Amino acid sequence: MRMSFGLIFRTAKGRWMAKLSRQCSRGYTELFVPSSPPLDPEKVKEFQRFITLSKRLLVMTGAGISTESGIPDYRSEKVGLYARTDRRPIQHGDFVRSAPIRQRYWARNFVGWPQFSSHQPNPAHWALSNWERLGKLYWLVTQNVDALHTKAGSQRLTELHGCMHRVLCLDCGEQTPRRVLQERFEVLNPTWSAEAHGLAPDGDVFLTEEQVQSFQVPSCSRCGGPLKPDVVFFGDTVNPNTVDFVHKRVKEADSLLVVGSSLQVYSGYKFILTAQEKKLPIAILNIGPTRSDNLASLKLDSRCGELLPLIDPH
Ligand SMILES: [Zn+2]
Repeated sequence: MRMSFGLIFRTAKGRWMAKLSRQCSRGYTELFVPSSPPLDPEKVKEFQRFITLSKRLLVMTGAGISTESGIPDYRSEKVGLYARTDRRPIQHGDFVRSAPIRQRYWARNFVGWPQFSSHQPNPAHWALSNWERLGKLYWLVTQNVDALHTKAGSQRLTELHGCMHRVLCLDCGEQTPRRVLQERFEVLNPTWSAEAHGLAPDGDVFLTEEQVQSFQVPSCSRCGGPLKPDVVFFGDTVNPNTVDFVHKRVKEADSLLVVGSSLQVYSGYKFILTAQEKKLPIAILNIGPTRSDNLASLKLDSRCGELLPLIDPH
């Protein structure tokens, strides 16, 4: 099966429209979610016991929880971006150092934004939000930057790597909503048009050099500094205050559940090590192997949106 898909963008009365190509009509699940074995009733029971016994549950989520919402991850076998394309994520140092790299990044991000920002939570996000409402979930830590937990209503939440829905000035540190920047892009680039192919987890798309070079990028409206999405790019480090905060929450928890992460990124993996030092029971729900399978008392290779809503959080 061909895994790539195309996005064609056209201007219509100054607004951006996205049309998914026919391959996408099969649905997100088949496109971005790795295949998994059918649910094993015994394992579901075991997982239910794990959740029932937990009184202060900390949940850590990764890209695997959002694939069922149509956002591809980077690492999944066959369907992840590393497997489907030769693209690699932007490096923090390159972005900060180079105005042309920022221009290319923002041009692609501008084209991808209407599609990226329109993704909606899936049953896994809703289940975790429900667990919080019922007092089951002590704290939620996500490695995702897609705002889907917030859209589902989660509040006891730390976005470890920031959020694409916010923009940060690299000089004065002012935070502004990403949607406001989209309006500024549209004003500055009224006739700019592009055809783009493929959407990455951070909302990135492909463009030609010519298209990139004619794209106008606004700067901070307060100080004129360069703008960056309020996310931790590869090669950057998570804010130490955020790391301390999450370490505290892990230490206060009585069990840890990983949802949709292969734990390859150290900033998430180190909290698993903290949980292990504290001898917390660890359960992992992820299709495919993770860096911490050997530390988990329970490992489930199921779709997050299929399994989590089956669990009674009382
Ligand atoms: Zn500024």
